[in-house]
Amino acid sequence: MASGAKARIRVNFVKQTPLQSKKILMVFAHADDETLLAGALIAQLISEGNVVAVLCLAPGDDDRRIRMRKACEVLGVKNVETLRYTESAMWPIENLNIMGRSPSDQVEEKLSPELTTVPIDDVAGRIAGRISELNPAVIITHASYGDYGHADHAAVHRATVQAMEQFSSDMPRLYSLVWPKWMMWLNVWMMKIGGRDIRRMGPDGRFNFGMLLQRQQTRNLTIKVSSYLGVRREASRWYEEELARGPLPMRLLERLPLRIQSIFLGKSRLVLEKCLTRSTLKKNAEQHETSLTKKAPN
Ligand SMILES: [Zn+2]
Repeated sequence: MASGAKARIRVNFVKQTPLQSKKILMVFAHADDETLLAGALIAQLISEGNVVAVLCLAPGDDDRRIRMRKACEVLGVKNVETLRYTESAMWPIENLNIMGRSPSDQVEEKLSPELTTVPIDDVAGRIAGRISELNPAVIITHASYGDYGHADHAAVHRATVQAMEQFSSDMPRLYSLVWPKWMMWLNVWMMKIGGRDIRRMGPDGRFNFGMLLQRQQTRNLTIKVSSYLGVRREASRWYEEELARGPLPMRLLERLPLRIQSIFLGKSRLVLEKCLTRSTLKKNAEQHETSLTKKAPN
């Protein structure tokens, strides 16, 4: 039964990435995103023989960068690249400490600008460079709405989409990881209870999470990853500090027995953002939808 399920997942993925190469590039904003948002998916893709590389744009300090490499090792990722952008504040209030920065802080700021304040062309250029080097068949990144509404995640999504504009041939395919609608609304509901204004997020309050939630989103690929939640948990031990600082629902979710956690994290949902040229995107998306609704042969 389990091997049948695995075979089905593989067939689905290969069917929708009809390229010989199975190199997959994952583009994320922060150290811990690869594990907490996609750890089980990465471990599964690697176990199926794909080669996964991780590009992290704003990994944080040296300690966090080292821990990310350790977590990636647990997931089976050998190729980890980090850039030097700095994590932006998720909420406007967290950005208040910019007042009165010391000169050394200001130098550091110039060397490592906040991700959301960098022109998108610059970030897209860096991502495009990595794509050219690696030549992946598939790229996977954050959702357009920044997953749980993080402006950095949304910025990385936009920059990755823009980076793809430079590749007009049939390579590569870009997918974004999305959450089921009910989890997004649950998240919004909790943020509202916590007194957050979801229409004014990000460092300067320009990121409207509410508006992005209204967008229609078609899921093109669902991959069952519940068998790899144990690997994800093992990797996430490198992020105990981050998890301890996280919001209560996240802390609870991380502590759930794996069987219950799989209700929330047992499936990875991917949206096809770009495939071949923009004109063929819609056609392909429709084809994928049809293939997904078909029952896989046993
Ligand atoms: Zn993040």
